[in-house]
Amino acid sequence: HVSTKPPPEPSPLRKAKFFQANMRILVTGGAGFIGSHLVDKLMQNEKNEVIVVDNYFTGSKDNLKQWIGHPRFELIRHDVTEPLLIEVDQIYHLACPASPVFYKYNPVKTIKTNVIGTLNMLGLAKRTGARILLTSTSEVYGDPLMHPQDETYWGNVNPIGVRSCYDEGKRVAETLMFDYHRQHGIEIRIARIFNTYGPRMNIDDGRVVSNFIAQAIRDEALTVQLPGTQTRSFCYVSDMVNGLMRLMEGDNTGPINIGNPGEFTMLELAENVKKLINPEVKIITVENTPDDPRQRKPDITKAKKLLGWEPKVKLCDGLPLMEEDFRGRLGISRKK
Ligand code: NAD
Ligand code: UDP
Ligand code: UDP
Repeated sequence: HVSTKPPPEPSPLRKAKFFQANMRILVTGGAGFIGSHLVDKLMQNEKNEVIVVDNYFTGSKDNLKQWIGHPRFELIRHDVTEPLLIEVDQIYHLACPASPVFYKYNPVKTIKTNVIGTLNMLGLAKRTGARILLTSTSEVYGDPLMHPQDETYWGNVNPIGVRSCYDEGKRVAETLMFDYHRQHGIEIRIARIFNTYGPRMNIDDGRVVSNFIAQAIRDEALTVQLPGTQTRSFCYVSDMVNGLMRLMEGDNTGPINIGNPGEFTMLELAENVKKLINPEVKIITVENTPDDPRQRKPDITKAKKLLGWEPKVKLCDGLPLMEEDFRGRLGISRKK
């Protein structure tokens, strides 16, 4: 699936960017969970000017409050399905709801965000000569028949199901990225992100780690969706941000899996949360939703080799960090 024809030479404009001192970096979806942590890291470099574009569908200004008013920071309320005319050197394109609860809420909007949103950001990259990174997803592998999943696997995806707006949307976004690369010489990077967790996730976001932690803190039963033997592999957000930045700065287009290969069943995850956060809490089973992938674990050989990256934070160390953040926001302290 990689073209044999070399992409056109970078334009003089694009070459010139390389020597420019200050980097203007656009982060779409920067008010969201991963985006806001990425902004924190990018802002640490005094040579970076960071522009966030977000429509606040699932993100919030609160996630960026430490940067509002900073001279190197700018926040724009904007929907990526509309054209965007600004000057930038790099684009981290994250805008898209990531929780199944939210991406299924308005599926037509989700597919527009993935397709028209990504097309607009590629148009912007083409006009400005910026390098663009797309946060794709492990969901492009669907309900995988290959385990663990490496980047050569084409996936097992239902094109007409309730998750398709997201997984097929991201697949088209990847296609657009490669077509702009082959046809227009745009510098692209594609990360296939596996389940990520950490502070600042929406408390009622509906994803499994945030659900279990909020439930454990509120003394509510942990809701394991049936059968409970389905697996996921969870990456702590600081590891994710480091991986995305390595990919952006390196020479590889990807797609590259970024995730933590530690694999857990949902029952094991519930047991871990119970042990670490609230040993009294009950674990119950509830109905699942259609097309739930039965297993998911990244093969990260490529990330290790090409980016020199691998995750460092283990689940048992990351969960307490997230618990602290959730307790602060819920105003519920730990029982003595
Ligand atoms: P998130 O929902 O917290 O953040 C997404 C952000 O995009 C939010 O701030 C939201 O308001 C914004 N947004 C959504 N639609 C928009 C639009 N049309 N225009 C402008 N802004 C819009 O999700 P996240 O977990 O931070 O995920 C970020 C990216 O990473 C997404 O592209 C997601 O698909 C991808 N990803 C995340 C995970 C994960 O486990 N968190 C896994 C795979 C892929
Ligand atoms: N676009 C944008 N910002 C720009 C340049 C383009 O949002 O700085 C949008 C533009 O509106 C179009 C899309 O990106 O819908 C693709 O742009 P491109 O120039 O590749 O295609 P064309 O405009 O020729 O269809
Ligand atoms: N899940 C669960 N209880 C919940 C929410 C989710 O058992 O309260 C399960 C869900 O069935 C899936 C896994 O957790 O198998 C991961 O779901 P999530 O929505 O977090 O992300 P996905 O990987 O499906 O995008």
